[in-house]
Amino acid sequence: MISIEKSGFVPPTPSIDTAGWWKAMAAGNLTMPECGECSSRFFPPQPRCSRCGASDWTLEPTDGRGSVYSWVVANRAFGEEFVDDVPYGIVAVDLVDGGRIIGRFAEDPALLRDGLRVEAVVQRFDEFGLLWFKSVEASED
Ligand SMILES: [Zn+2]
Repeated sequence: MISIEKSGFVPPTPSIDTAGWWKAMAAGNLTMPECGECSSRFFPPQPRCSRCGASDWTLEPTDGRGSVYSWVVANRAFGEEFVDDVPYGIVAVDLVDGGRIIGRFAEDPALLRDGLRVEAVVQRFDEFGLLWFKSVEASED
């Protein structure tokens, strides 16, 4: 079963486009690329805005609250590092302050449903920050 503290880990390979995002995550800060032309937020960081194609965007902070748009459940490990994690969920989350982002679900994937309210958790792992989401309902018990 999935556990943030004991999950499998494969170090990411930041690109020229994603390096700033990973640097912010390493400091515990979740950010989203925001277009300087049309103000839309998109993910992942890429050379041009996915809505209007403008190349001037900046990383802006987000509080990481949102709702589950869609998800998949991994029932088989995609690498030996994740054998103890399965089954686990990967969620696409519509953030309240704009944009859709992908992260791992920190709880039993059987809890996943359309519109589930979640909040981001940035887990420090080595020199990286990894993105997880946990349900808000469960955390308010
Ligand atoms: Zn744009």
